[in-house]
Amino acid sequence: MQLPVQLLTALETTKGFDRKSFEAVHASNEQVTSIRINPLKASTTSPNPQILKSPNHPVPWSQYGFYLETRPSFTFDPLFHAGCYYVQEASSMFLEQALKQTLDLSQSLKVLDLCAAPGGKSTHIQSLISKDSLLVSNEVIRSRTNILKDNIIKWGCDNVMVTHNDPADFAKMSGYFDVIVIDAPCSGSGLFRRDQAAIEEWSLANVQLCSQRQQRILADVWPALKENGILIYSTCSYSKEEDEEIVNWLLQDLSIVNCPLPIDASWGIVESGGGYRFWPDKVKGEGLFLACFRKTGEERTTAIKIKNKPEQATQSESVIIDKWVKSEGLRFIKHKQTVYGWPEKLADDFSFLLNQLRVAYSGTIIGELLRDKLVPDHSLAMSTKITDNIQRIALDYDRAIQYLQRKELLPGNMTKGWQLVTYEGQILGWVNVLSNRINNYYPKELRILKDK
Ligand code: SAM
Repeated sequence: MQLPVQLLTALETTKGFDRKSFEAVHASNEQVTSIRINPLKASTTSPNPQILKSPNHPVPWSQYGFYLETRPSFTFDPLFHAGCYYVQEASSMFLEQALKQTLDLSQSLKVLDLCAAPGGKSTHIQSLISKDSLLVSNEVIRSRTNILKDNIIKWGCDNVMVTHNDPADFAKMSGYFDVIVIDAPCSGSGLFRRDQAAIEEWSLANVQLCSQRQQRILADVWPALKENGILIYSTCSYSKEEDEEIVNWLLQDLSIVNCPLPIDASWGIVESGGGYRFWPDKVKGEGLFLACFRKTGEERTTAIKIKNKPEQATQSESVIIDKWVKSEGLRFIKHKQTVYGWPEKLADDFSFLLNQLRVAYSGTIIGELLRDKLVPDHSLAMSTKITDNIQRIALDYDRAIQYLQRKELLPGNMTKGWQLVTYEGQILGWVNVLSNRINNYYPKELRILKDK
């Protein structure tokens, strides 16, 4: 692994950089694997997911993060597909400290995750905010928006809106958000240890380009942050141009103060120029820089005006929907035949955002209403709002994998109709049992393509 000499030279004056041990850790081939538990589906104390065999090694700065001793095949773990956990690099989980130490997370907050795909930070934020809080999870690149949407659906929550907008589109929503998280696109040096291609793509010119783009993104979205709101900025680059120099630029050009985050000395994190550096030879994780700020300048707050109210399900349609969903606290919205479940308390905000942004997904898709029947959606199967009354078929490991490969399941003695399939008590998706066969409704685009 030949690290770029220009980078190593530039880092010589960076706090915490120790060339010898930095090069050694890159040469060592050591791989760190970590996951973050989904508290909506799994517990940090039970043996499920099974990959968390005792003794567990918690990530010290995250309530839900764990290191794994070896890297299993996540593709062939049904609980991964059930949304019990997210595979996430440990340093990134430090976002939790920034949120916990600067905010009262029991309050109802409006949070924007501006550069969100594939959804690591968004699923983490969702686990930390209250159920009456709203998360707008945005991604500017279309193909990446789809991956983000799939991960949000798998997480099983209903207080998230996935949007597909340019950062500048948020400027009109002045003072709307309490928190904005910008996990900025960067030159990627922090991932060198696990991604050889990132080394080949690295150049000083790209560092400059990224730095300018980061400033543009920050300046574009800035009006959308409320007065006293929190801005969290992070990159996975070691270059000062994308880290400390961005902090300096923010402090000089905007009405903002830096928020120091108390850190435990044993964590190995290095405080540098108003932010926190993760060096892979000092922490068990990859390279990361994170800084946190509070907006001090005044910001006019946008009044929530709803131009076009979305159509709601009728009384008789609600009776049909009620058989499938724990309806309490939900409002049912219709777009053509598709029914969405929105948290009642966030419905005005959801309607407002629908008028303002390009929305790719919101709440939970319940299903399609066809005459007096509901065809349930995969999102409903993944959601914690699915009713307990629906029949479930428990699959063993091999059959669970066959189901996730979208293979045919052989009929046994089963009641006809829509049923949920489960593995180790966790829902994987829908089947429709007919008299002579079982139709597998696992979404085609999510199926496991490989054979074990
Ligand atoms: N936060 C994500 C997570 O934890 O899974 C990772 C985000 S990644 C570091 C940066 C994201 O910014 C990418 O998804 C990329 O598509 C997006 N991006 C690229 N150019 C952008 C731009 N000009 N404005 C906003 N986002 C951009």
